[in-house]
Amino acid sequence: LPKEADVVVIGAGGAGLTSAIAAHEKGAKVILVEKTELLGGNTNYATAGLNAAGTKVQEKFGEKDSPELFYEDTMKGGKNKNNKELVRVLVNNSSAIVDWLTERGADLSEITSTGGQSAKRTHRPTGGAAVGPNIVAALSKTAENEKIDIRKGTKAIELVKAKDRIVGVKVRETDGKEYTIKAKAVIVATGGFGANAKMVEKYNPKLKGFGSTNNPAIVGDGIVMVEKVGGALVDMNEIQTHPTVVHNKTNMITEAVRGEGAILVNKDGKRFIDELETRDVVSKAILEQKGKSAFLIFDEGIRTKLKAADGYVKKGFAVEGTLEEIAAKIGADAKTLEATLNKYNEAVKNKVDSEFNKKTLPKELTGTKYYAIEVSPAVHHTMGGVRINTNAEVIGKNGRPIKGLYAAGEVTGGIHGANRIGGNAVADITIFGKIAGENAAIFSKSVK
Ligand code: ADP
Repeated sequence: LPKEADVVVIGAGGAGLTSAIAAHEKGAKVILVEKTELLGGNTNYATAGLNAAGTKVQEKFGEKDSPELFYEDTMKGGKNKNNKELVRVLVNNSSAIVDWLTERGADLSEITSTGGQSAKRTHRPTGGAAVGPNIVAALSKTAENEKIDIRKGTKAIELVKAKDRIVGVKVRETDGKEYTIKAKAVIVATGGFGANAKMVEKYNPKLKGFGSTNNPAIVGDGIVMVEKVGGALVDMNEIQTHPTVVHNKTNMITEAVRGEGAILVNKDGKRFIDELETRDVVSKAILEQKGKSAFLIFDEGIRTKLKAADGYVKKGFAVEGTLEEIAAKIGADAKTLEATLNKYNEAVKNKVDSEFNKKTLPKELTGTKYYAIEVSPAVHHTMGGVRINTNAEVIGKNGRPIKGLYAAGEVTGGIHGANRIGGNAVADITIFGKIAGENAAIFSKSVK
């Protein structure tokens, strides 16, 4: 196995795969190391879509949107804690990344929306299929076609620094064998730390005891490695909980279910929140209900329209039946639940939700067959992480970039501020993955 490359990428999730391809296409010799036997990381779990504004897809559907509006929604969602420059890069490159990914085999041909967005800009595969596996499959295939050196079962354990520059990565294979790969530039794309309960609790004690939706491999390796070579961290306490995770399980119910019109009711069969409020607000509201859980209610129309919803039913997460049967199964009073639905449908008809001021009212819930899934919040996304600049260079504690070190994806912090909008992660990891890959490739050419 060659032990030298222009660019070494650590982690083969959405950010790492994108970086590796972008660097390779810029002419760099790339080695991509992945500690597990599977490609995709948490990206494989991404369901809702990729947020982008001003795309050809939006134009096709007659959806009015702009990078400016996308910027405003993202800043507002992030409570203005976001790094403004990084958000500018995100929104301004969003339309181009949809084209770039589409050219490499991804299907982003449909649009929907998630909480906190004022336009339909969440691009997803036809039929509402999950976005993550689609992108991971397309990029894996691309990387394979381009003959990129991908080493599975190879864990990065240390960044090698010589004087002021990163010159390699020390790795350990599953069988324990260790070796060092010499590199002119290194891209850290190891994902966040959502599956590391200790680290979650360290940075945000309020989340002690929370479950997690994350892939078990997502434990913050990159953050620890970058810190060791003097990298700065940002917003580490900002950890997003996903409001709708199957109660007492790790399976997340995509926000798209609410995007299509599902409502949330408590054990009394009553609504309690604008279902499309931002994730932090919905999470908090659910924890305030009896039993710290709620029920996501949708009808047959939503189940047939959204593949993901159908999938949840097939996986056995939902109870189903007439509204009366549903009420009995969730322990609510049938009359109350019926009244809740009638009132909600009235609001949809009048386009005014006088109770909870829900701004997007997608559809009435109708028919004779309904579904209910018990949900509660769990740790979902770590918004803080390694500090980068708009070139995806890692910034040191002294405020200057660390030469030869780049980072992209969930391992980085600052883009989502205090709250990430659903669909912004897939945009973030691919856009900054591409920037990191291209810049690392260019930088590597300048190194003797
Ligand atoms: P992102 O969304 O930022 O791309 P993902 O969670 O999708 O992040 O992917 C991160 C990937 O990095 C996962 O496949 C994970 O197994 C891998 N990874 C994490 N730590 C290491 C490490 N120390 N060495 C190699 N790969 C790693």
